[in-house]
Amino acid sequence: MDRIYLDYAATTPVDQRVIDEMIPYFRDIYGNPSSIHFFGQKAEGAVENARERIKNLLNCHKYDIIFTSGGTESDNLALRGVALNERKKRNANKILISSVEHDAISTTANQLKIYDGFEIIELRVDNYGLIDQSFFESQLNEQTAIVSIIYGNNEIGTINPIEHFVKECNKKGIPFHTDAVQALPHIKVNMESSGIDLLSFGAHKFYGPKGVGALIKKKGLNLIPQNTGGKQEEGYRAGTHNVPYILGMTKALEILTEEKDLESRRQKILRDQLINFVINNIRGAYLTGDPVSRLPNHASFVFDGIKGNELLISLDIDGFAVSAGSACKVGLAAPSKVLLKIGIDEKLAMGSLRVTLGKNTLEGDIDKFERSLRKIIDQLRRTTDG
Ligand SMILES: *Cc1c(COP(=O)(O)O)cnc(C)c1O
Repeated sequence: MDRIYLDYAATTPVDQRVIDEMIPYFRDIYGNPSSIHFFGQKAEGAVENARERIKNLLNCHKYDIIFTSGGTESDNLALRGVALNERKKRNANKILISSVEHDAISTTANQLKIYDGFEIIELRVDNYGLIDQSFFESQLNEQTAIVSIIYGNNEIGTINPIEHFVKECNKKGIPFHTDAVQALPHIKVNMESSGIDLLSFGAHKFYGPKGVGALIKKKGLNLIPQNTGGKQEEGYRAGTHNVPYILGMTKALEILTEEKDLESRRQKILRDQLINFVINNIRGAYLTGDPVSRLPNHASFVFDGIKGNELLISLDIDGFAVSAGSACKVGLAAPSKVLLKIGIDEKLAMGSLRVTLGKNTLEGDIDKFERSLRKIIDQLRRTTDG
Protein backbone atom coordinates (compact mmCIF):
# COMPACT_ATOMS: atom_id res chain seq x y z
CA MET A 1 0.00 0.00 0.00
CA ASP A 2 1.12 3.56 -0.77
CA ARG A 3 1.32 5.47 2.47
CA ILE A 4 0.79 9.22 2.43
CA TYR A 5 2.48 11.37 5.05
CA LEU A 6 0.52 14.46 6.12
CA ASP A 7 2.15 15.22 9.46
CA TYR A 8 4.91 17.68 8.53
CA ALA A 9 4.27 19.72 11.68
CA ALA A 10 5.42 16.70 13.70
CA THR A 11 8.56 16.22 11.66
CA THR A 12 9.87 16.15 8.10
CA PRO A 13 12.09 13.75 6.12
CA VAL A 14 15.73 14.84 5.81
CA ASP A 15 16.55 16.34 2.40
CA GLN A 16 19.17 14.31 0.49
CA ARG A 17 21.29 17.46 0.05
CA VAL A 18 21.33 17.83 3.82
CA ILE A 19 22.52 14.24 4.24
CA ASP A 20 25.27 14.85 1.67
CA GLU A 21 26.36 17.96 3.58
CA MET A 22 26.59 16.03 6.87
CA ILE A 23 28.44 12.86 5.78
CA PRO A 24 32.03 14.27 5.71
CA TYR A 25 31.62 15.54 9.27
CA PHE A 26 30.94 12.04 10.56
CA ARG A 27 33.77 10.39 8.67
CA ASP A 28 36.56 12.83 7.81
CA ILE A 29 36.21 16.07 9.73
CA TYR A 30 35.49 14.31 13.00
CA GLY A 31 37.62 16.39 15.38
CA ASN A 32 36.30 18.05 18.50
CA PRO A 33 35.92 21.76 17.73
CA SER A 34 37.47 22.55 21.12
CA SER A 35 40.71 20.66 20.33
CA ILE A 36 43.84 22.60 19.40
CA HIS A 37 45.14 20.24 16.70
CA PHE A 38 44.44 20.09 12.98
CA PHE A 39 41.34 17.87 13.33
CA GLY A 40 39.85 20.14 15.97
CA GLN A 41 40.55 23.29 14.00
CA LYS A 42 38.88 21.85 10.89
CA ALA A 43 35.76 21.08 12.89
CA GLU A 44 35.77 24.45 14.62
CA GLY A 45 36.12 26.17 11.25
CA ALA A 46 33.07 24.28 10.03
CA VAL A 47 30.95 25.28 13.03
CA GLU A 48 31.98 28.94 12.72
CA ASN A 49 31.29 28.83 9.00
CA ALA A 50 27.81 27.44 9.77
CA ARG A 51 27.22 30.25 12.27
CA GLU A 52 28.14 32.90 9.68
CA ARG A 53 25.90 31.32 7.06
CA ILE A 54 22.95 31.33 9.47
CA LYS A 55 23.65 34.96 10.41
CA ASN A 56 23.48 35.90 6.74
CA LEU A 57 20.32 33.89 6.11
CA LEU A 58 18.38 35.36 9.02
CA ASN A 59 20.12 38.76 9.06
CA CYS A 60 21.25 38.52 12.65
CA HIS A 61 24.78 39.89 12.86
CA LYS A 62 23.93 41.69 16.09
CA TYR A 63 22.86 38.39 17.62
CA ASP A 64 24.50 35.30 19.08
CA ILE A 65 23.56 31.97 17.58
CA ILE A 66 23.50 29.34 20.31
CA PHE A 67 23.43 25.82 18.90
CA THR A 68 21.18 23.48 20.88
CA SER A 69 19.64 20.02 20.64
CA GLY A 70 16.40 21.39 19.14
CA GLY A 71 13.36 23.55 19.60
CA THR A 72 12.60 22.25 23.07
CA GLU A 73 16.05 23.01 24.43
CA SER A 74 16.06 26.46 22.81
CA ASP A 75 12.68 27.25 24.40
CA ASN A 76 13.95 26.05 27.78
CA LEU A 77 17.18 28.02 27.55
CA ALA A 78 15.41 31.22 26.53
CA LEU A 79 12.65 31.11 29.13
CA ARG A 80 14.54 29.73 32.11
CA GLY A 81 17.86 31.36 31.29
CA VAL A 82 16.47 34.85 30.81
CA ALA A 83 13.90 34.67 33.64
CA LEU A 84 16.54 33.66 36.18
CA ASN A 85 18.94 36.33 34.94
CA GLU A 86 16.37 39.14 34.90
CA ARG A 87 15.33 38.28 38.44
CA LYS A 88 18.93 38.37 39.61
CA LYS A 89 19.53 41.64 37.74
CA ARG A 90 16.37 43.62 38.50
CA ASN A 91 14.15 41.52 40.73
CA ALA A 92 11.61 40.88 37.99
CA ASN A 93 9.44 37.94 39.00
CA LYS A 94 6.71 37.71 36.37
CA ILE A 95 6.69 35.59 33.22
CA LEU A 96 4.16 36.32 30.47
CA ILE A 97 3.31 33.50 28.10
CA SER A 98 0.34 32.93 25.84
CA SER A 99 -2.23 30.34 26.89
CA VAL A 100 -1.58 28.37 23.68
CA GLU A 101 2.16 27.72 23.92
CA HIS A 102 3.84 24.46 22.98
CA ASP A 103 4.57 22.26 26.03
CA ALA A 104 8.26 23.20 25.74
CA ILE A 105 7.29 26.67 26.98
CA SER A 106 4.21 26.01 29.15
CA THR A 107 5.77 23.13 31.10
CA THR A 108 8.99 25.08 31.60
CA ALA A 109 6.99 28.07 32.86
CA ASN A 110 5.12 25.80 35.25
CA GLN A 111 8.37 24.43 36.63
CA LEU A 112 9.68 27.98 37.11
CA LYS A 113 6.52 28.69 39.08
CA ILE A 114 6.68 25.61 41.30
CA TYR A 115 10.41 25.44 42.00
CA ASP A 116 11.60 29.01 41.51
CA GLY A 117 8.61 31.03 42.69
CA PHE A 118 7.96 32.93 39.47
CA GLU A 119 4.50 34.28 38.83
CA ILE A 120 3.16 33.07 35.49
CA ILE A 121 0.67 35.24 33.64
CA GLU A 122 -1.15 33.47 30.84
CA LEU A 123 -2.16 35.78 28.02
CA ARG A 124 -5.65 34.84 26.97
CA VAL A 125 -6.55 34.30 23.34
CA ASP A 126 -9.67 34.71 21.22
CA ASN A 127 -11.53 31.97 19.34
CA TYR A 128 -8.88 32.00 16.62
CA GLY A 129 -5.98 31.72 19.07
CA LEU A 130 -4.91 35.36 18.68
CA ILE A 131 -3.65 37.06 21.82
CA ASP A 132 -5.73 39.76 23.50
CA GLN A 133 -3.49 42.79 22.96
CA SER A 134 -4.98 45.11 25.56
CA PHE A 135 -4.68 42.45 28.27
CA PHE A 136 -1.07 41.91 27.18
CA GLU A 137 -0.32 45.63 27.50
CA SER A 138 -1.97 45.81 30.92
CA GLN A 139 0.30 43.05 32.21
CA LEU A 140 3.56 44.57 30.98
CA ASN A 141 5.56 46.33 33.66
CA GLU A 142 8.93 46.44 35.42
CA GLN A 143 8.02 43.18 37.20
CA THR A 144 8.00 41.35 33.85
CA ALA A 145 11.13 39.23 33.44
CA ILE A 146 10.35 37.88 29.97
CA VAL A 147 7.50 37.58 27.47
CA SER A 148 7.24 34.44 25.35
CA ILE A 149 4.69 34.15 22.57
CA ILE A 150 4.42 31.37 20.03
CA TYR A 151 4.85 32.63 16.45
CA GLY A 152 2.98 29.96 14.47
CA ASN A 153 0.84 27.57 16.48
CA ASN A 154 1.62 23.88 16.08
CA GLU A 155 -1.90 22.69 16.88
CA ILE A 156 -4.18 25.25 15.26
CA GLY A 157 -1.87 26.93 12.75
CA THR A 158 -2.60 30.50 13.88
CA ILE A 159 0.16 33.02 13.19
CA ASN A 160 0.38 35.72 15.84
CA PRO A 161 1.15 39.30 14.77
CA ILE A 162 4.24 39.31 16.92
CA GLU A 163 5.51 42.71 15.63
CA HIS A 164 3.05 44.39 17.95
CA PHE A 165 4.21 42.49 21.04
CA VAL A 166 7.86 43.05 20.14
CA LYS A 167 7.30 46.79 19.83
CA GLU A 168 5.72 47.07 23.27
CA CYS A 169 8.44 44.95 24.87
CA ASN A 170 11.24 46.90 23.16
CA LYS A 171 9.74 50.17 24.40
CA LYS A 172 9.82 48.93 27.98
CA GLY A 173 13.12 47.05 27.73
CA ILE A 174 11.54 43.66 28.44
CA PRO A 175 13.12 40.64 26.72
CA PHE A 176 10.82 39.13 24.09
CA HIS A 177 11.11 35.49 23.04
CA THR A 178 9.22 33.68 20.33
CA ASP A 179 8.95 29.97 19.64
CA ALA A 180 9.30 30.04 15.85
CA VAL A 181 9.67 26.29 15.38
CA GLN A 182 6.57 26.08 13.16
CA ALA A 183 6.78 29.59 11.72
CA LEU A 184 10.37 29.60 10.46
CA PRO A 185 9.70 26.96 7.79
CA HIS A 186 7.09 29.26 6.21
CA ILE A 187 7.66 32.86 7.23
CA LYS A 188 10.44 35.19 6.17
CA VAL A 189 12.49 36.04 9.26
CA ASN A 190 14.72 39.12 9.39
CA MET A 191 16.01 39.35 12.94
CA GLU A 192 17.63 42.83 12.77
CA SER A 193 14.49 44.54 11.52
CA SER A 194 12.11 42.46 13.66
CA GLY A 195 13.45 43.66 17.01
CA ILE A 196 12.89 40.18 18.46
CA ASP A 197 15.28 39.53 21.36
CA LEU A 198 15.21 35.74 21.29
CA LEU A 199 13.97 33.24 18.71
CA SER A 200 13.91 29.44 18.87
CA PHE A 201 13.86 26.92 16.04
CA GLY A 202 14.61 23.26 15.38
CA ALA A 203 16.00 21.72 12.18
CA HIS A 204 13.73 18.70 11.86
CA LYS A 205 10.70 20.87 11.08
CA PHE A 206 12.38 22.00 7.83
CA TYR A 207 13.95 18.87 6.36
CA GLY A 208 17.01 18.91 8.61
CA PRO A 209 18.04 16.28 11.16
CA LYS A 210 16.27 15.73 14.49
CA GLY A 211 18.10 16.69 17.67
CA VAL A 212 19.57 20.01 16.56
CA GLY A 213 18.32 23.57 16.71
CA ALA A 214 19.32 27.05 17.71
CA LEU A 215 18.44 29.91 19.98
CA ILE A 216 19.12 33.29 18.40
CA LYS A 217 19.78 35.86 21.10
CA LYS A 218 20.45 39.58 20.90
CA LYS A 219 24.06 40.36 21.84
CA GLY A 220 24.31 41.92 25.28
CA LEU A 221 21.19 40.20 26.58
CA ASN A 222 22.42 37.81 29.24
CA LEU A 223 21.03 34.46 30.25
CA ILE A 224 21.91 31.83 32.83
CA PRO A 225 22.99 28.63 31.09
CA GLN A 226 21.12 25.43 31.91
CA ASN A 227 23.78 23.13 30.45
CA THR A 228 26.86 23.91 32.50
CA GLY A 229 30.31 22.56 31.77
CA GLY A 230 32.80 23.61 29.10
CA LYS A 231 33.13 26.97 27.43
CA GLN A 232 31.29 26.11 24.20
CA GLU A 233 28.88 28.72 22.82
CA GLU A 234 30.52 31.40 25.01
CA GLY A 235 29.41 29.42 28.04
CA TYR A 236 25.71 29.72 27.14
CA ARG A 237 25.51 26.05 26.27
CA ALA A 238 28.22 23.62 27.33
CA GLY A 239 28.80 20.32 25.54
CA THR A 240 30.71 19.20 22.47
CA HIS A 241 29.13 20.58 19.31
CA ASN A 242 27.17 18.18 17.15
CA VAL A 243 29.19 19.20 14.12
CA PRO A 244 27.46 17.11 11.41
CA TYR A 245 23.99 18.13 12.57
CA ILE A 246 24.91 21.81 12.84
CA LEU A 247 26.18 21.71 9.25
CA GLY A 248 23.09 19.77 8.19
CA MET A 249 20.78 22.29 9.81
CA THR A 250 22.64 25.12 8.08
CA LYS A 251 22.26 23.45 4.69
CA ALA A 252 18.56 22.83 5.42
CA LEU A 253 18.14 26.52 6.25
CA GLU A 254 19.83 27.53 2.99
CA ILE A 255 17.57 25.26 0.97
CA LEU A 256 14.57 26.52 2.92
CA THR A 257 15.43 30.15 2.21
CA GLU A 258 15.60 29.37 -1.50
CA GLU A 259 12.44 27.28 -1.71
CA LYS A 260 10.22 28.77 0.98
CA ASP A 261 8.24 31.29 -1.10
CA LEU A 262 7.34 28.91 -3.87
CA GLU A 263 6.70 25.90 -1.63
CA SER A 264 4.57 27.77 0.88
CA ARG A 265 2.46 29.18 -1.95
CA ARG A 266 2.07 25.74 -3.51
CA GLN A 267 1.14 24.11 -0.22
CA LYS A 268 -1.33 26.86 0.64
CA ILE A 269 -3.35 26.12 -2.50
CA LEU A 270 -3.61 22.42 -1.59
CA ARG A 271 -4.36 23.30 2.03
CA ASP A 272 -7.22 25.59 0.98
CA GLN A 273 -8.56 22.88 -1.30
CA LEU A 274 -8.64 20.53 1.69
CA ILE A 275 -10.21 23.06 4.08
CA ASN A 276 -12.93 23.92 1.56
CA PHE A 277 -13.66 20.27 0.93
CA VAL A 278 -14.00 19.44 4.61
CA ILE A 279 -16.13 22.45 5.52
CA ASN A 280 -18.44 22.02 2.52
CA ASN A 281 -18.75 18.24 2.37
CA ILE A 282 -18.58 16.93 5.91
CA ARG A 283 -21.37 17.88 8.26
CA GLY A 284 -20.40 18.98 11.78
CA ALA A 285 -16.85 19.86 10.71
CA TYR A 286 -15.19 23.06 11.90
CA LEU A 287 -11.84 24.64 11.12
CA THR A 288 -9.81 25.43 14.25
CA GLY A 289 -7.48 28.42 14.37
CA ASP A 290 -7.42 31.56 12.26
CA PRO A 291 -8.69 31.00 8.70
CA VAL A 292 -6.49 33.80 7.30
CA SER A 293 -3.51 34.43 9.57
CA ARG A 294 -2.46 30.81 9.33
CA LEU A 295 0.56 28.64 8.54
CA PRO A 296 0.28 27.88 4.80
CA ASN A 297 0.70 24.11 5.22
CA HIS A 298 -1.64 23.72 8.19
CA ALA A 299 -5.24 22.53 8.30
CA SER A 300 -6.87 21.62 11.62
CA PHE A 301 -10.43 20.63 12.39
CA VAL A 302 -12.83 19.33 14.97
CA PHE A 303 -15.63 16.93 14.06
CA ASP A 304 -18.85 16.64 15.96
CA GLY A 305 -19.47 13.19 17.46
CA ILE A 306 -16.06 11.80 16.47
CA LYS A 307 -13.27 10.52 18.71
CA GLY A 308 -9.99 11.87 17.38
CA ASN A 309 -8.04 8.75 18.30
CA GLU A 310 -10.42 6.46 16.40
CA LEU A 311 -10.24 8.78 13.42
CA LEU A 312 -6.42 8.71 13.45
CA ILE A 313 -6.31 4.92 13.66
CA SER A 314 -8.81 4.49 10.83
CA LEU A 315 -6.91 6.96 8.65
CA ASP A 316 -3.65 5.15 9.45
CA ILE A 317 -5.19 1.84 8.38
CA ASP A 318 -6.22 3.57 5.15
CA GLY A 319 -2.59 4.72 4.66
CA PHE A 320 -2.69 8.33 5.88
CA ALA A 321 -0.38 9.66 8.60
CA VAL A 322 -1.99 12.62 10.37
CA SER A 323 -2.25 13.90 13.92
CA ALA A 324 -4.79 14.85 16.55
CA GLY A 325 -3.12 18.22 17.02
CA SER A 326 -0.17 17.74 19.29
CA ALA A 327 1.96 14.67 19.85
CA CYS A 328 -0.90 13.21 21.89
CA LYS A 329 -0.58 9.47 22.38
CA VAL A 330 -3.45 7.10 21.76
CA GLY A 331 -4.95 6.11 25.08
CA LEU A 332 -4.40 9.48 26.71
CA ALA A 333 -7.93 10.53 25.90
CA ALA A 334 -7.79 14.07 27.26
CA PRO A 335 -8.92 17.03 25.14
CA SER A 336 -6.22 19.41 23.91
CA LYS A 337 -5.54 22.32 26.25
CA VAL A 338 -5.12 24.65 23.26
CA LEU A 339 -8.54 23.76 21.84
CA LEU A 340 -10.18 24.43 25.22
CA LYS A 341 -8.38 27.79 25.44
CA ILE A 342 -9.86 28.91 22.11
CA GLY A 343 -13.31 28.13 23.46
CA ILE A 344 -14.09 24.75 21.94
CA ASP A 345 -16.12 22.61 24.35
CA GLU A 346 -14.61 19.47 25.80
CA LYS A 347 -16.70 17.01 23.82
CA LEU A 348 -16.08 18.64 20.44
CA ALA A 349 -12.37 19.04 21.26
CA MET A 350 -12.09 15.24 21.48
CA GLY A 351 -12.74 15.05 17.74
CA SER A 352 -9.67 16.95 16.59
CA LEU A 353 -7.58 16.38 13.48
CA ARG A 354 -4.44 18.11 12.21
CA VAL A 355 -3.31 17.72 8.61
CA THR A 356 0.00 19.35 7.73
CA LEU A 357 1.44 19.42 4.22
CA GLY A 358 5.02 19.47 3.03
CA LYS A 359 7.38 19.37 0.07
CA ASN A 360 6.38 15.85 -0.97
CA THR A 361 2.64 16.46 -0.84
CA LEU A 362 0.96 16.24 -4.24
CA GLU A 363 -2.51 17.32 -5.34
CA GLY A 364 -3.43 13.66 -5.83
CA ASP A 365 -2.55 12.94 -2.20
CA ILE A 366 -5.05 15.52 -1.00
CA ASP A 367 -7.74 14.14 -3.35
CA LYS A 368 -7.20 10.64 -1.95
CA PHE A 369 -7.16 11.93 1.60
CA GLU A 370 -10.44 13.81 1.16
CA ARG A 371 -12.19 10.67 -0.10
CA SER A 372 -10.84 8.56 2.74
CA LEU A 373 -11.69 11.14 5.40
CA ARG A 374 -15.29 11.50 4.25
CA LYS A 375 -15.75 7.74 4.11
CA ILE A 376 -14.23 7.13 7.56
CA ILE A 377 -16.20 9.89 9.25
CA ASP A 378 -19.41 8.44 7.79
CA GLN A 379 -18.46 4.98 9.05
CA LEU A 380 -17.51 6.18 12.54
CA ARG A 381 -20.73 8.13 12.87
CA ARG A 382 -22.79 5.15 11.76
CA THR A 383 -21.21 2.92 14.41
CA THR A 384 -21.72 5.47 17.20
CA ASP A 385 -25.25 6.44 16.11
CA GLY A 386 -26.32 2.81 15.69
C1 LIG B 1 8.18 20.72 17.38
C2 LIG B 1 7.99 21.94 18.20
C3 LIG B 1 8.80 22.19 19.32
C4 LIG B 1 9.84 21.21 19.78
O1 LIG B 1 10.94 21.19 18.92
P1 LIG B 1 11.94 19.93 18.97
O2 LIG B 1 13.03 20.32 18.01
O3 LIG B 1 11.15 18.76 18.51
O4 LIG B 1 12.43 19.81 20.36
C5 LIG B 1 8.61 23.36 20.01
N1 LIG B 1 7.67 24.26 19.63
C6 LIG B 1 6.87 24.05 18.57
C7 LIG B 1 5.88 25.09 18.19
C8 LIG B 1 7.00 22.89 17.82
O5 LIG B 1 6.21 22.68 16.77
